Amino acid sequence: MPTTDYLRISLIDRCNLQCQYCMPAGLTMDYVQRQDWLTRQELRQLLTEVFIPLGFDRFRLTGGEPLLRPDLVEIVADMAELPATQDLALTTNGILLAAKAPALWQAGLRRLNISLDSLNPQVFQQLTGGQDRWHQVWQGIQVAHGLGFAPLKLNVVVIPGVNDQEVLELAGLSRDRPWHIRFIEFMPIGNAHLFADRGWVDSASLRQHIRQHWGLEPGQVRGNGPADVFQIPGALGTVGFISQMSECFCDRCNRLRLSADGWLRPCLLNETGQIDLKTPLRQGKPLVYLRQRVADLVAAKPAINYKMRQSGVTGAYGRTMSQIGG
Ligand code: SAM
Ligand code: SF4
Repeated sequence: MPTTDYLRISLIDRCNLQCQYCMPAGLTMDYVQRQDWLTRQELRQLLTEVFIPLGFDRFRLTGGEPLLRPDLVEIVADMAELPATQDLALTTNGILLAAKAPALWQAGLRRLNISLDSLNPQVFQQLTGGQDRWHQVWQGIQVAHGLGFAPLKLNVVVIPGVNDQEVLELAGLSRDRPWHIRFIEFMPIGNAHLFADRGWVDSASLRQHIRQHWGLEPGQVRGNGPADVFQIPGALGTVGFISQMSECFCDRCNRLRLSADGWLRPCLLNETGQIDLKTPLRQGKPLVYLRQRVADLVAAKPAINYKMRQSGVTGAYGRTMSQIGG
């Protein structure tokens, strides 16, 4: 069983896109009120007094869209300077990246994942809620690349009949750029009906398709996460596959998820067992008490990880992916 030492932190549940697979149109979102966000100080306190003493040393900031969080740069600076931090990364849709990347770099961030589901601006527009944003995201990627962010990863959720015909082209981006393309199996979370008739594309089929065209060999390095990493021969970057639907990687899951309003969730696919950290923190409960609660959750995690995914079944969710943070 791996050590649980990786924390994904959602800083905000709002977003400036409305990706169909994440935040379906017509859904009434019950956003967390700003006063209920964990503050910068509370986050720092939780990290230094609760998570780091329990061995957490790798962190990813996500959302919603984390670049909408007004004090993001300060939070990044706080986390980058913690001596315990071994790894700090951020996942973004890239819309505000061209403007904010320099300050994030200055604050100490080096690792970025940017979601880019299509190279076709029209498909991108249709998939992300109807606004013409592709060029803005592409510009953000170029700025991040120019600043030296590395590894720079591009996340692609593959949806049959929508963007699966672009898989070769997207994988091909890794050939002459040191970019890491991560194909993610679409999960019907919070949107079970949306693509119900289309299902999802399994990573093995994508790999086969890419192998036939470009060739594919096992990657030299494994990342922190659940991606199976490969490389097109001679490529500067890599191609990875995150197969949470076709494969069960619960037994190598090393992560917990903290929501913007301070709920700690042991498993992406299962809402069982999540605990509220914000309320006891604001009530002034001793931090040692919170540390014990988190330690208990870590210990319980293997038993409450959700292992039904192989059958393509996902649980019932009160929250969408944009609220959980992916
Ligand atoms: N807004 C940021 C972004 O889009 O990168 C960060 C939050 S987003 C929820 C984090 C990741 O979850 C993104 O890579 C996104 O593509 C992925 N995601 C969202 N909904 C998904 C779904 N239904 N199935 C699989 N991945 C999903
Ligand atoms: Fe899209 Fe990310 Fe926003 Fe979800 S949180 S709607 S994936 S940009």
